[in-house]
Amino acid sequence: MQTPFYGNVRQYLSIKDEIDGNIQKVLMSGSFVMGPMLTQFEKEFAAYTGSTYAIGVGNGTDAIWLVLMALGIGPGDEVITHANTFFATAEAIWIAGAKAVLIDCDPRTKCIDPKKIEAAITPRTKAIIPVHLYGQCADMRAIKVIADKHKLAVIEDNAQGIDGRGDTFKQGELSDAVATSFIIQKNLGCFGDGGAVTTNRADINEKIRKLRNHGSAKREHHSFGFNSRLDDIQAGVLSAKLKHITAWTDLRIKWAARYSAGLKGAKTFDLPYVTPGYRHVFHLYVIETKNPAKRESLLKFLNAQGVDAKTHYSIAIHQQEGYPWGKQAQIVGSLTNAERNAATCISLPMFPELTTEEVDYVIAKVMEWDKANA
Ligand SMILES: *Cc1c(COP(=O)(O)O)cnc(C)c1O
Repeated sequence: MQTPFYGNVRQYLSIKDEIDGNIQKVLMSGSFVMGPMLTQFEKEFAAYTGSTYAIGVGNGTDAIWLVLMALGIGPGDEVITHANTFFATAEAIWIAGAKAVLIDCDPRTKCIDPKKIEAAITPRTKAIIPVHLYGQCADMRAIKVIADKHKLAVIEDNAQGIDGRGDTFKQGELSDAVATSFIIQKNLGCFGDGGAVTTNRADINEKIRKLRNHGSAKREHHSFGFNSRLDDIQAGVLSAKLKHITAWTDLRIKWAARYSAGLKGAKTFDLPYVTPGYRHVFHLYVIETKNPAKRESLLKFLNAQGVDAKTHYSIAIHQQEGYPWGKQAQIVGSLTNAERNAATCISLPMFPELTTEEVDYVIAKVMEWDKANA
């Protein structure tokens, strides 16, 4: 049985009329950039996230560096994040002109380890970027305590965690801003590139609205800026999809529970950890082989059986060829957990439109390999 990794077309077909209707509306409005559909989606997204402001931007990477720039963070400044996130988190810091300081992750959640943050703080540190990796919120309460003590900004990289929450906290509640990506493979995906910043801070909202549009609010150019806008066709797709995000997340959680129940007895790998009380939205369902030397064998076996398993991310940022050693990036402390995560992770197919047969097939194949390799 072929089990794909993404269900983009299945999802489109499931709400085709709603999406097509919104696209038609944009086409007939004649306004394709900074038009009424963008305004409508920004209102809906702010209401949905419970934030005062939502600003559509070109992509998730831009969403991060636009917040850094809006906060005046740039050359000479340091920003702390963790080494096992997607490359773009560190890139965004580099684009803003600041130095990315990479620390280790928590061995269970794979999110930034709050206990490692203070050792990385210097007089040049300006912000922390926790990533809600794989769809589970970082430990925002602990991060907020450290940020307040050292007067640092906190920017949530929520490219993977939309619709998630912590036990006592919501996304955006314990930070200055939240950066989201809408590229198709994310949980709320448009038909191209897209992103958004949500914030409760009027100053960040005003600055990003100018920065994304050539420094211009209405006709005046108040400063030099950039071109990073969410176009109206993408906003229309997102507006249609936003109504379904909670139901889609619930399906991801259901498939994750089915995976975890079916794979429970396995001896050769560990299952994803869910922090008690958190809503983990399973952007990715990631298992970790206990023996790193066996990871490629499991991956190859699954691919050969038609299971489109992948790795996220098999090379930690500081081990990438493109990592700018000594210049605009540095590591602090041992990155053992991040490196182990890179060496052992395997992502199983995960999207709302999976079928029971597909999930059970994946479970059967993974368990077959487990028995043969235990
Ligand atoms: C996808 C992703 C980004 C970047 O989003 P783009 O829209 O592709 O620019 C940033 N951080 C994380 C953790 C991501 O997964």
